[in-house]
Amino acid sequence: MSRLSDTDVAHREAFRAYVLDQAEPWHRRHLTRLYQVWEDANAKWYDSALVPPILLLAEPGEPKRYGQCSAVSSYGARSEIRIRPSLLAGTHPHIRHPGEGADRFADDVLLHEQIHQWQQETLGVDEDGWHGHGPTFRDQANQIGAALGIAAVRTSKRRGPDKDLPSCAQWPHCARPPDHYLGAYHVPASRDRLSVEAAAQTLARKHGARVLRRALELAEAAVDPKVEP
Ligand SMILES: [Zn+2]
Repeated sequence: MSRLSDTDVAHREAFRAYVLDQAEPWHRRHLTRLYQVWEDANAKWYDSALVPPILLLAEPGEPKRYGQCSAVSSYGARSEIRIRPSLLAGTHPHIRHPGEGADRFADDVLLHEQIHQWQQETLGVDEDGWHGHGPTFRDQANQIGAALGIAAVRTSKRRGPDKDLPSCAQWPHCARPPDHYLGAYHVPASRDRLSVEAAAQTLARKHGARVLRRALELAEAAVDPKVEP
């Protein structure tokens, strides 16, 4: 992709200036803080070399993503970062309530997406083989993480000497201490992580004792060939 033109840079600076000055109050409050988080990180970890992105409170392309950094924006400009608005509103299933903790979580999503912006605009790599979360992402995350005093992460592929570390695809929230989000961030257990007790209760409610006794006979027969079904 070609270098940013002066027009690209001026447009993105003007977009930010508009948001900070003219946006509706809810958007202005959150985007002002988010642009400040972005600017502080730009100064600390990117030598102020990055150009402010088109920063939107808007849904990413996939339901499970918290944020997204697109090399080409939805209207054809460059570097659009989307932060899912339900994270800030406190209506996302992983966010218990709006406020300081939810804001911190959204700020962290932006730090993550800023690394993708740096990959795309400065390095010119997309690390497609790792869905963006390869060695360049990992190393940048770990450099920032060391300064923040949070845990180290690996690439999105679980292999090698750091395979037991969390994946940088979930950085930085996977590396933050649990109290960092003030109790606002909580991922409910998925069905496959339910305890045996909870799974048994669900089955008992659904099928009743007669079906489950027969199921037990069949299950035991399946693992022990000496028992006749
Ligand atoms: Zn990512």
